[in-house]
Amino acid sequence: MSDKPVLDLLIAAPRGFCAGVDRAIRIVELAIEKHGAPVYVRHEIVHNKFVVDRLKARGAIFVEELDEVPDGAPVVFSAHGVPKSVPANAVERGLDYLDATCPLVSKVHRQAERLVEAGRHIVFIGHAGHPEVIGTFGQVPEGAMTLVENVQDVEALEPADPANLAFLTQTTLSVDDTAEMVRALQRRFPAIQGPRGEDICYATSNRQAAVKAIAAACDAMLVIGAPNSSNSMRLVEVAEREGVRARRRLRAGAAGARAGRSPRHALHDQRARGGDDARIDRLQAAARAGSGLRRGRWRFTRRCRPRCWRRS
Ligand code: SF4
Repeated sequence: MSDKPVLDLLIAAPRGFCAGVDRAIRIVELAIEKHGAPVYVRHEIVHNKFVVDRLKARGAIFVEELDEVPDGAPVVFSAHGVPKSVPANAVERGLDYLDATCPLVSKVHRQAERLVEAGRHIVFIGHAGHPEVIGTFGQVPEGAMTLVENVQDVEALEPADPANLAFLTQTTLSVDDTAEMVRALQRRFPAIQGPRGEDICYATSNRQAAVKAIAAACDAMLVIGAPNSSNSMRLVEVAEREGVRARRRLRAGAAGARAGRSPRHALHDQRARGGDDARIDRLQAAARAGSGLRRGRWRFTRRCRPRCWRRS
């Protein structure tokens, strides 16, 4: 019998793959079934090492650029989307391509095109170098869009025509950070036009809300995801902002570990300590939902117990 303490795990819900990722994986699987191996995939189909390794084992070959794909070979574009030049290049070379871009990313692409057609300059909120950002910038002529990554970038903006701006966002951003940047944009440029609906996708915002819902009842949070996954890294940030020690692990969805407290008990603690209203509201929601939380009692062995969780 291990002398390690028993930890309770709260497992965030919803979690796991979103519909866009499921769809992209299925497209690669179907392409392999239809064409046989190998099928080339431009960029990691999704930012998940286990998915990528599994597809490699079935005959997918991952490349970064189209010139690595031999003539005549089938190629799939990743869920993050690609600049317009990529399918155009594939057509020129006569490649048989499948576009696994998530429809929610394609929606942002179309919005960008429409705004540029309407003569607006776009301020794009996103992370430099992320494939989704590269893909979205590649939908419009060079210079039609400016990237901002934080409020400081917004403050430093000097647009040629401040009355004729619009903003769009990457789909996998922090909901709270983005709201702050949108407020900064609207304060500096009151005439700026925003998207009608939310560009941050439902899967991203639901998972961030799920982390917030259990954070107040947790002592530590483990996020299972890849370091190049924007969604996973945002979940770590959300948990840390809620005051929970958070770590990202390749083998671990969002799970909160707590030392024997239910959301209901944590709620009583917070009230007794005069905790802040927002945290109490979230605990109330978690305790009411009870539901959104799946519970289990896991005993960590010496090998798998994360070092960062050891109490001194
Ligand atoms: S945009 Fe949202 S739903 Fe689509 S693949 Fe990305 S995270 Fe998933």
